[in-house]
Amino acid sequence: MFIDGKWGSDGKSFDVTNPATGETIEAVADASADHAVQAIAAAERAFPDWSRTTAYHRAAILQKAHQLMLENKQQLAELMTLEQGKPLRAALNEVQYGADFLQWYAEEAKRIYGTSIPSARADQRFMVQHQAVGVVAAITPWNYPVSMITRKLAPALAAGCTVVLKPAEDTPLCAMKIFSLLQEAGIPDGVINLVTSSNPEPIGDVFCTHAAVRKITFTGSTAVGRHLATLAAPHLKRVSMELGGHAPFIVYPDADPVHAAKGATLVKFLNTGQACICPNRIYVHRDSIDPFVSTMVERVGRMQVGNGMDAGTAIGPLINSKALEKMERQVSDASAKGADVVCGGRSLSDGDHAGGCFFAPTVLNSITPAMDIYREETFGPVAAIIPFDDKDDVLAMANDTSYGLAAYVYTRDLTTAMQSFERLQFGIIGINDINPTSAAAPFGGMKDSGLGREGAREGLQEYLETKLGGFSV
Ligand code: NAP
Repeated sequence: MFIDGKWGSDGKSFDVTNPATGETIEAVADASADHAVQAIAAAERAFPDWSRTTAYHRAAILQKAHQLMLENKQQLAELMTLEQGKPLRAALNEVQYGADFLQWYAEEAKRIYGTSIPSARADQRFMVQHQAVGVVAAITPWNYPVSMITRKLAPALAAGCTVVLKPAEDTPLCAMKIFSLLQEAGIPDGVINLVTSSNPEPIGDVFCTHAAVRKITFTGSTAVGRHLATLAAPHLKRVSMELGGHAPFIVYPDADPVHAAKGATLVKFLNTGQACICPNRIYVHRDSIDPFVSTMVERVGRMQVGNGMDAGTAIGPLINSKALEKMERQVSDASAKGADVVCGGRSLSDGDHAGGCFFAPTVLNSITPAMDIYREETFGPVAAIIPFDDKDDVLAMANDTSYGLAAYVYTRDLTTAMQSFERLQFGIIGINDINPTSAAAPFGGMKDSGLGREGAREGLQEYLETKLGGFSV
């Protein structure tokens, strides 16, 4: 734990496990609800001074943190691969992405502009200022254990907020390393506080009900996000929710099916399929299905599954055995209901895979709405392909989900591209583009995928109040 500038523990701990080997890496402090209360008190004490520092001062600290994160890139990436499992090259990319938020918000801190509004009265002036909301309570998931933290901390700190963070139980080591880098960058005591815990519920309860917390920012599953938003509602706290997804990936008949299949394979198997923006329903026009499937299968066949520390590994382990069971259940349900298991379809537990949570990258064809995978977020390396015939129906099929995070479209036709962009009910749309994300761009979902945005100017507004001054002169 890191509370009021001090690292500590009261003796209780929980183990952090390597998902590639099942081995314990380290034991970390196991915080309770009381620790969350102490951390919030520290953040509340630190808020008045921190929120009154200049944007230039906060920007300088964030720039320093950015520099330190890049200097420690290799070490942080190795830690990520150890506790989360992704291949080292992907972990290095994530550290870069995570550091980008520190730099982008260091720059943006200086652009929290107000406005002056003309009044209808000659003796009145209006001035609008934006001020930090106060103490922020943040909860993050394990799948992107560095960038999901900086995507919250950087704008919150830039705005002048103080923060208490509970990271995912599976990946506290990255969080601890980030906090030690931020401490080294010069963030004052109490401004950032960390409670690592194996028991999230009581900590979530404190975050959502404590009077000093003015804002809850959560990234994780829709079920937990809904629960936290419900807890926070009677207390009228501001909430940001970055939740689950069920991304459609549409390949229109005019698209190059080989090019589309290469893109679909990259984004589907990103982070072993454990990304909220991974395609979950891949709609391919029937005319293109054969070249699309054969390209995907050929690419998947070249993906080495193993420990992320080994050079050449493209697919790391799933985070835990529960995730493995979900893959097995979704594949057997689809197969029983008539899906074609084109490749993969099973757990891997022999030889180098013994002890880890490995699942063979899988391609399923002829998926139908009756199958669980059609509605339920997969969060693993299983690609679900749905052949379609009518171009006019496919947008309605894509929108037929309670989720609304990311969607992808492959087409060469400008009108199809524009209509798809405008009609898809998703917050992030990649048009012939499998990576529509950046610290400079607003990330977030509609419907059950969440509330609010992270990244970009929108991500800073989440931590700012609008204050109006009326001046009689
Ligand atoms: P999760 O089970 O909802 O957990 C997320 C975080 O919430 C973890 O820190 C977890 O702690 C904590 N938590 C769980 N129950 C809680 C409770 N009752 N009160 C307070 N905190 C609680 O989600 P996950 O499995 O870690 O992450 C995968 C999900 O995140 C997927 O649905 C994915 O789509 C979504 N995601 C969304 C985005 C986005 O930007 N939209 C980005 C990444 C991931 P423990 O670790 O101790 O359980």
